[in-house]
Amino acid sequence: MPPEVRKILDMNAFDPSKDGAEAQASSGLLARRRANFGAASVLFYRRPIEMVRAEGCWMEAADGTRYLDFYNNVPSVGHSHPRVVEAVHRQMARLNTNTRYLNAVTEAYVERFKALLPPALSNVVLSCTGSEANDLALRVAMEATGGDGIVVTETAYHGNGYLTTQVSPSSWREGGPPSRVRTVPAPSVEAYGEDVGGGFAAAVAEAFASLAAAGHGPAALLVDSVFSSDGVFADPPGFLAPAVAAARAAGAVFVADEVQPGFGRTGAGMWGFARHGVEPDMVTTGKPMANGFPMAATATRPELLERFCRRFGYFNTFGGAPVAAAAGSAVLDVIEEEGLIANAARVGARLKAGLEAAGAGDPRVGAVRGAGLFLGLDLVRGGEPDAAFAVRVIDGLRDRGVLIGACGKYGHTLKIRPPLPLSAAEADRFVAAFAEVLAEGR
Ligand code: PMP
Repeated sequence: MPPEVRKILDMNAFDPSKDGAEAQASSGLLARRRANFGAASVLFYRRPIEMVRAEGCWMEAADGTRYLDFYNNVPSVGHSHPRVVEAVHRQMARLNTNTRYLNAVTEAYVERFKALLPPALSNVVLSCTGSEANDLALRVAMEATGGDGIVVTETAYHGNGYLTTQVSPSSWREGGPPSRVRTVPAPSVEAYGEDVGGGFAAAVAEAFASLAAAGHGPAALLVDSVFSSDGVFADPPGFLAPAVAAARAAGAVFVADEVQPGFGRTGAGMWGFARHGVEPDMVTTGKPMANGFPMAATATRPELLERFCRRFGYFNTFGGAPVAAAAGSAVLDVIEEEGLIANAARVGARLKAGLEAAGAGDPRVGAVRGAGLFLGLDLVRGGEPDAAFAVRVIDGLRDRGVLIGACGKYGHTLKIRPPLPLSAAEADRFVAAFAEVLAEGR
């Protein structure tokens, strides 16, 4: 029997129908939460945690427990970073307004941001969430190509809007893709053999051909360049290039979703796509861009945006407002001044080596993959995905004061993604906790 396919929001989430949770649900905050959020409530852990503050790589719960945060790609320069807090506070006290007035803070940010991107991507549309950034990128792609066929990976997540949910298989609890979307397995050796790049490109080409046969002309290949929700696939660098060439040969544009790998996480420069030596037609960013202040961007070539704007106006009330720009600028300052990209490479390599050593000879620990401070670690049983064990490991780590999540089609991959200032000692602490959980579960 093939392993059960898991949905990302359901992984190790609080489920009122299980684990005696009904009793908990009747108490305090949890009951209020359920009453307020209803069926759309998603909470980590079967015993949800009430958080009250956070600093650096640490979060603190209402009961005083301190947790090492290995899950969070939003406060990526560290929780409550004083530089960002100060920048937001200062700008908020001075001016915050939409981008229909001229404002030097916003232009200064965009110029810094553009300087980090390929020069051809010289127009930037600022918004507030990765979902908005991807929605716009797909709409621009459709206008530019005249097609509406989109190819994404099998367990991708690209957002929560109408169109972005259509390209986010990891959100679908029922049914398959709409007719304009094709999914391809993420670029893994399991799916494609040793020639991951060639196999992935062939799958992309076939997907566009099948879309065309169904009357959906090619519009976009949209991928998260570190394949986060698919299970973290980063190597070998360069494997993305043939797929990008295949998409372009079919007539589609390539959109690099940098919401996860962007802003230094892979330890190999600012962007995940750059590790693959490809130049996207569009780049989207979000989450870590302003360290928790809502900020996102779609960067593209002027002619693509012009074509879109012939048919539609685009305005985003909060996108690119001066406070967001001030937060974004502070994030870039911190990344540079604290050498966070080099830190991600250095501490990430130490963490990977430590996890490999902890799992060596243990048949329950499969591959450890990733780049910089974004790692995926497979938990297996008889070589097959073991999501139940992943949940036990996640709970065991929580009991040892470490927060972590899972990803991948079968939910058996630990998603290891701490803030970028992680110290060597904090990395070692995680490895020690992981080793203890393994020993306990023997
Ligand atoms: N793209 C990717 C790769 C993501 O991981 C996410 C969020 N998890 C999004 C887009 C959507 O971002 P947001 O939640 O800010 O809309």
